[in-house]
Amino acid sequence: MADVSKDLFERGVRVMPGGVNSPARAFGAVGGEPIFFESAEGTRLRSVEGREYLDYVGSWGPFLLGHGHPAVREALHRQVDLSTSFGAPCRQEVELAELLCESIPGLDMVRLVSSGTEATMSALRVARGFTGRDRVVKFEGCYHGHGDSFLISAGSGLLTHGVPSSPGVTAGTAGDTLLAPFNDGDALERLFAEEGETIACMIIEPIAGNMGVVPAERHFLERARELCTRHGALLIFDEVMTGFRVAFGGAAEIYGIVPDLVTYGKIIGGGLPVGAYGGRREIMEVVSPVGPVYQAGTLSGNPLAVTAGLATLRELQQNPPYQRLEALGTELQRGLQSAVDSLESINGTINRVGSLITLFFTDHEVTSFASAVSSDTKLFASFFHGMLEESIYLPPSQFEAWFLSAAHSEGDIERTVATAGQVLADLDGSHRREST
Ligand code: PLP
Repeated sequence: MADVSKDLFERGVRVMPGGVNSPARAFGAVGGEPIFFESAEGTRLRSVEGREYLDYVGSWGPFLLGHGHPAVREALHRQVDLSTSFGAPCRQEVELAELLCESIPGLDMVRLVSSGTEATMSALRVARGFTGRDRVVKFEGCYHGHGDSFLISAGSGLLTHGVPSSPGVTAGTAGDTLLAPFNDGDALERLFAEEGETIACMIIEPIAGNMGVVPAERHFLERARELCTRHGALLIFDEVMTGFRVAFGGAAEIYGIVPDLVTYGKIIGGGLPVGAYGGRREIMEVVSPVGPVYQAGTLSGNPLAVTAGLATLRELQQNPPYQRLEALGTELQRGLQSAVDSLESINGTINRVGSLITLFFTDHEVTSFASAVSSDTKLFASFFHGMLEESIYLPPSQFEAWFLSAAHSEGDIERTVATAGQVLADLDGSHRREST
């Protein structure tokens, strides 16, 4: 069979950095070359070579209903014939905004944008404009897109003051981001005691999905809410990954905590580019054209993208898949756990919330960035390629969640568990041989 992916990749690297338009796709964390895809249906991806893969990436989250759900596909076909963009208001954007505000406690108003990054960057600007303060607290291991304020690592001197983690981010921007350890309430308390008056907002993935799945502990999140309120800072839940996935009301519903601002992406675009940020009316009324905080977008709220999001959310409302996803997730977790338990030389820890799951190759409990990075990433790479050989497409990094969808069947899970068991047993065997 001709290796079309290889040819396309070679052409791609000549004209796009790394041959891709988003780094995670380049297989940098696992080695090898990416597969190019031609079509997808339900849980099946078809590569340009015509090989079929069982998908656990789901376009990194949007496809909670699986690829090409009929309701979404039909709505999109109808909309293409009407218009893809007016650059003027349309019915669908009002309907999506209404659906979001009606469904989510504390969400009085939203602004639609075209990506998760746009949503989080804009939410920061709004928080700064509303509070008149500059500083932002973010957590180690949480990802909020590629906005300058988020590309920050811990500085070496004062632990909490950030330094740029990417060239091109200025020291000035980095200095306005304070970095805190995830799930450490005492550190947060100290940070607010020292810097509280300068802090505009705290942004957090309440269930982190970008260091692998690491849920916030309830008392930590409650303490974060209380600290923000006490110090006049806004609490921003970044629900770009978790919104409408871990529950229809996202992580906020699971924890019963209402943030001041929330950001969405992924599922609310149903596979097309849509993001959103929103919150209490008094906060959102600082946004232009009502208020002075400027934010705009040529294709924001365009009828095509919004139609995909609306069709997805309506389907989720009418046929909620959450119980089924929990059952599938439980089955997958149980199967992986028993596979891991039978190994002699490989350690694994599984974290899961609903349809988000990560198998960390570590013997630590994973509750923080430090414990997540104790994982054996070389072992993950071997596991990933073993699964890929058996036509199971996992996220190509140890520090990503696997995304289950409503289209996964019990049979898909059984096959995945059996394959993972075999791949892990083989790895265990070669490990033991190497160490004797
Ligand atoms: N926030 C979270 C929690 C995410 O997982 C992501 C993307 O993975 C983003 C923000 C950025 O979204 P986008 O890639 O659409 O810009």
